[in-house]
Amino acid sequence: MSVNENLERLSDACGVTGRENNVRDIMIELLKPYSDEVQIDKLENVIAVKKGKAKSPKIMLAAHMDEVGLMVKTITKDGFLQFTKMGGIDDRILLAQKVSVHTKKGAHIGIIGSKPPHIQKEEERKKIITYDDLFIDIGAENKDAAVKMGVSIGDSIVFDIKYANLGGSDIVLGKAFDNRAGCVAMIETLKVLKETDCTVCAVGTVQEEVGLRGAAAAAFGVDPDLALALDVTIAGDVPGVREFDTSVKMGKGPALTISDSGLITHPKILRWLIDSAEEEKIPFQLESGLLGSTDAARISITRQGIPCGTVSIPTRYIHSPAGVLSLKDIDSSAKLTAAAIQRIKKHFK
Ligand SMILES: [Zn+2]
Repeated sequence: MSVNENLERLSDACGVTGRENNVRDIMIELLKPYSDEVQIDKLENVIAVKKGKAKSPKIMLAAHMDEVGLMVKTITKDGFLQFTKMGGIDDRILLAQKVSVHTKKGAHIGIIGSKPPHIQKEEERKKIITYDDLFIDIGAENKDAAVKMGVSIGDSIVFDIKYANLGGSDIVLGKAFDNRAGCVAMIETLKVLKETDCTVCAVGTVQEEVGLRGAAAAAFGVDPDLALALDVTIAGDVPGVREFDTSVKMGKGPALTISDSGLITHPKILRWLIDSAEEEKIPFQLESGLLGSTDAARISITRQGIPCGTVSIPTRYIHSPAGVLSLKDIDSSAKLTAAAIQRIKKHFK
């Protein structure tokens, strides 16, 4: 399967944080051909192991499988669904979005509504409508009808966006690129990796968006010598973004984090990644000072500390209904990660 096909499958799947099972099943299927064994730990992280030689370093790759989304909180007597947010979503992007509510009787289409602007007071119209004043209309006549459709409190809700290739180029649009793009880069890494003495544990982590929780448990269990998080980062190549805010651009290769809110990349890791990219002539970009973090932040403070870095795919509009990215960057991220694994012994004794 190509990067394009894998990303389409994973992007269209529903995996709101804490309910990653659909994504997990696809990950197991896609990781299996390139691993010696695939395990699932108690928090439901997926761990694909490619065994190396004894006494050689063990590397953990981490790509979170969850996505930001919504969860059914209340069903009103009139059959509307009120919801809570799972992960960081800006209230301003919610109104009028088409969504898909995943119930025990299948998925139902809905639309996020609010009190019509025509009957809002002047000052109400100026305010941002927060999620607790919004609701989802799934066409249910009343609460009983919604329940008959299979809706229960706790059901996952995702934006109803289908994956698409834009303009016939390598630029694609889709839901949940944060972090299905990282998942695809991780699968691709195992695919392009040549023989190595190192043990590689490719981990699809759960619950990253609510506090890097799955990665904490997985890193403790895997107990690696070093680790890399494969994730997405903000592409600053859209109107209104200053060079100072971020210089990372789509299509120019993966971004290597120097520092973010939760991680200062270990200097040896940064050297190792930059040397690997330069020797293989793989494009890359450096980024620092961004708010937010990745699984690497949590892994780096596991046990007695694990040297960590991040390989990030520049993506536009993350944490919104749809992202845009270049497939070339996923390809380069995988090539760089594989090239670095090949050179572990040279850099880490
Ligand atoms: Zn992410």
